[in-house]
Amino acid sequence: MKRFFICLFFVVALCCTPFLLFPEGSAAPFWKDIMSTEPVVPSDSAQEAEAAAPDEEATEPAGSETVSQPFDSQVTLRVLVGGEVTEMTVADYLKGTLAAEMPSDFPMEALKAQAVASRTFALKQAEAGKHSNADICTDSSCCQGWTSEMSDEAMTRFSQAVAETDGLVVTYGDSLIDATFFSCSGGRTEAAVAVWGSDIPYLQSVESPGEEDAPRYQETVVLDADYFADLLQEAYPEMNLSGPPRAWFGPFTRTEGGGLDIVFIGGVRVEGTTLRRLFSLRSTNLDISVTEDNIQITTTGFGHRVGMSQYGARAMAEGGADFEEILLHYYTGTEIKKLLCQTAEQ
Ligand SMILES: [Zn+2]
Repeated sequence: MKRFFICLFFVVALCCTPFLLFPEGSAAPFWKDIMSTEPVVPSDSAQEAEAAAPDEEATEPAGSETVSQPFDSQVTLRVLVGGEVTEMTVADYLKGTLAAEMPSDFPMEALKAQAVASRTFALKQAEAGKHSNADICTDSSCCQGWTSEMSDEAMTRFSQAVAETDGLVVTYGDSLIDATFFSCSGGRTEAAVAVWGSDIPYLQSVESPGEEDAPRYQETVVLDADYFADLLQEAYPEMNLSGPPRAWFGPFTRTEGGGLDIVFIGGVRVEGTTLRRLFSLRSTNLDISVTEDNIQITTTGFGHRVGMSQYGARAMAEGGADFEEILLHYYTGTEIKKLLCQTAEQ
């Protein structure tokens, strides 16, 4: 008996996108998505999730019997691991991503929020075709992290987080979102437009309280004034850094998320994101103080600060929020929907 997998979007608008994950020629199983038309109220256990009935409007292949299947164990991703493409189930991929991206002792609801964000992120990357020979890579600076190394105890918790969110993704306007996440915002996240220059409706600036006990929540680096000047003048030859360091700094503005937006240094307009990159700062949420011979930069938070704060998710979970509340807080105006697979038997 030959088994094959068919997944269909229940959302009519998405039926026009027949191949979302795997480009033609891929060895991965052919699938389209099944996405429920209504936001999902996830069940509390993996068993209940697996038993969930498919949407009544599902299209069944003529002459075939269809059986609802859990998504994560049926769909595979081609993952670029150390230069080699490895095919693995979404479930196995997500456990490795959780191991790389979030401490296993975080509350279960935070781990589940991360699992949904990472599933959404991975499927979106695969859909976009970022890598020609793979759906996603394991470089956190390119896609998102992944590792096979984790303790048995961590594996148990990550497996639970993945199983209890099987197939759940975050959508906006019936499309998968770019579910960006980061470590710690310092109290408020940034809108995408403030960091990357393009306005994305679901990546807006939102409050993110309770992150204060994150490691290195606030950190001060002391830069020698000559080093500071040399690095800046390399990037901006027209910058006038004559006179004492106190005279170098002009007006500045802040973003809605509290980050340094623009600062004038030596008469030149410098973006906060550029300053962060040039001096490898932990965050654009920063304050600068100047002495006669050094520049002190105090950062708060860690990461690009757009999307879901992981330490904010931890704080929300500790305050009683479930993973849906966490995701809907950080991704403005979104919904959570469930991807399902159907197994057709011939
Ligand atoms: Zn990548």
